[in-house]
Amino acid sequence: MSKPKIIFVDDEEYNLEAFQAYFRREYEIYTFTSADEALLFLNFNKIEIIISDEKMAGTTGIEFLERVSKIFPDSIRVLITAYADLQLLESAINRGQIYKFLHKPWDWEKLKLVIENCEAAFNYKNELKIQNEALTKANFELNKFVYSVSHDLRSPLTSILGLIEITKSTPDLKVASNYFELIEEKVIKLDGYIKRLLDYFRNDRSELKHSKINFTSIIEETWLLLSEGSKKINFNTEVIEDDQFFGDPVRLEIIFENLISNAIKYQNPSIKNQEIFVKIRVDHNKCTIAVTDNGIGIDQSYADKVFELFFRANANKNDAGSGLGLYIVKDTVERMNGEIKLFSEPMKGSTFYIELPNRKLMKITA
Ligand code: ADP
Repeated sequence: MSKPKIIFVDDEEYNLEAFQAYFRREYEIYTFTSADEALLFLNFNKIEIIISDEKMAGTTGIEFLERVSKIFPDSIRVLITAYADLQLLESAINRGQIYKFLHKPWDWEKLKLVIENCEAAFNYKNELKIQNEALTKANFELNKFVYSVSHDLRSPLTSILGLIEITKSTPDLKVASNYFELIEEKVIKLDGYIKRLLDYFRNDRSELKHSKINFTSIIEETWLLLSEGSKKINFNTEVIEDDQFFGDPVRLEIIFENLISNAIKYQNPSIKNQEIFVKIRVDHNKCTIAVTDNGIGIDQSYADKVFELFFRANANKNDAGSGLGLYIVKDTVERMNGEIKLFSEPMKGSTFYIELPNRKLMKITA
């Protein structure tokens, strides 16, 4: 784990050196004799704890901490001063929103305790922020899910009920069997939708589990599972492994299943040589995956949008998908600390690029 970072601002060089010497083992310390220099540094670096002396040439510690509190409200701030009175204290709390206040000259043990408290306060604040963000995301997804479930689950059910009604009053078995086929189509679609929902929750709830990955067999099995009726598509793979790859096999299956099924679904019906090419390269640190098709493609301006929840370019068409697949893929890739990008051109094709870290050196699952 990296050390917590501290900025210490004081115009007396001797204090900075002493502080640096005392805390250098436990913390990553940056010292400045001027508030402006510290602010400049803060613009490019995230620092957890900011400690400032009150009396400085050209500005005061309170002024400096007030500016820091506006630009970096998450930081934990401490003011040190030799001249404490009530008015100063009031300003430090109200303007600088300081967490602690210390007398100068300070007692080293006391200062150490204050810094430990600052660290705990920062971690607590940070944890709360992460939980809040997760809650906002979950709430947003829930709202969208409610809408989608009411539409995507109910509308095929309503059509199935309608078809059953018609079938009941159809004496001709041949005609009835056409209706059964339509019912079957709707049920398959519904099943696919429910499977994707389950994939989403599986990815969201379950821990990452890493093991040695056999890319060739995952891809072959996925293609076998999905290629029924797509035999005319030319399917090619290339797996170059300079090292073994360790990752989460269940999540990799989710990724390949969604990308390959899209590559099949979005083929260009008007061309003869329909193609899908899956290319994988593994090295010591990572694997890169490219899934390419020469299908209908999509305008590059949608390259980020396609990963949004329930985005589908042909939402109004009868055969529109669920808009869940790529959202799940992106979520899964990010959970594995990877990245995904789309490069596409209408009527030429699409390539999805994924980069995932190799977990070979990790002893425990994260
Ligand atoms: P779905 O396919 O169920 O609509 P996805 O989340 O898998 O949902 O995909 C979102 C949208 O991205 C699709 O509706 C489609 O417009 C576009 N898309 C995905 N994959 C491809 C592809 N291989 N080629 C062209 N467009 C694609």
